[in-house]
Amino acid sequence: MIVTVTLNPAVDVSYQAARFQIDHGHRVEAGRKTAGGKGLNVSRVLSQLGEQPLCTGFIGGKNGEWLENKLNEEGLQHAFVSVNGETRTCIAILDEENNTQTELMEKGPVITAEEQEEFEEVFENLLGETSLVIASGSLPAGLPLSFYKELCQWAKSANIPVILDTSGEALVSGIEGKPFLIKPNKEELCQYKNQSDLTLDEMIGAAREICSKGVEYVLISMGAEGALLVGKETLLKADIPTIKVVNAVGSGDSTVAGMAYALKEGLEIAECLKWACACGMSNAMEIETGTVQKQIVEELIEQITIRNL
Ligand code: ADP
Repeated sequence: MIVTVTLNPAVDVSYQAARFQIDHGHRVEAGRKTAGGKGLNVSRVLSQLGEQPLCTGFIGGKNGEWLENKLNEEGLQHAFVSVNGETRTCIAILDEENNTQTELMEKGPVITAEEQEEFEEVFENLLGETSLVIASGSLPAGLPLSFYKELCQWAKSANIPVILDTSGEALVSGIEGKPFLIKPNKEELCQYKNQSDLTLDEMIGAAREICSKGVEYVLISMGAEGALLVGKETLLKADIPTIKVVNAVGSGDSTVAGMAYALKEGLEIAECLKWACACGMSNAMEIETGTVQKQIVEELIEQITIRNL
């Protein structure tokens, strides 16, 4: 079983508002409510690939209850720690005419020291049942910046690999916990290096530097340009075909899910990279965030070439 960690999940509500204008009222249809959070997207994709992942993290209040019910409906297993605060709501206003997306994202609950300890207990128990942990997204308020580092260390002492997909300071600190794999996109890697842009060689250099800190693989996703996989003795580039993009939100999460699925299947690392890219692409071809079609993924895999750089 794969465990996904979403520390700050959300009830995502999206509204369609054509010609959206600031400082104006808009009459809209009922909002579309979905269970949001990067780790939940990863779980959804894993389940579409045939896995039965388990989602954990923190949830609270009425929104938390709604979220658990939604996961039940979707057939996703979960073991969240209940917190005093309310799980956040994130609102997206989609204007198809002007092609804009305006988002309001609540910060979410503040996690107390006791709630944090409770999570550690839940997580330690889950480590006995899992073969791979995926931790995605930002840290909620209250948790120390070193939280992902600690999480990686807990998993490491149980010999369970961690895939970490986060950014900013949480990533910098998380790397110190020596996760098995991290998946920055180009922008996140630039942020890590404090640069506004990086050439391909500089990206490879940054990834090598991260590997020298004890991370096994750095998977750099590059949107329509495919992805790079860097390890101590690995340097692979995935070239992907052109596709018709419908909604690329969640492609990074789908990439992580594809990688995890292929690793768990015991495939060669180059094949894993193909699964990762194909899942990102399949998601980009769907309207729903964090959705792939396994048959399309398998067709896309045939069209991806992996080169040794
Ligand atoms: P993130 O969502 O983390 O920014 P990316 O945008 O790099 O991640 O997308 C992850 C993967 O999804 C890419 O490596 C690629 O395989 C696929 N993908 C994303 N956008 C596109 C696109 N416009 N065309 C083709 N594939 C895409």
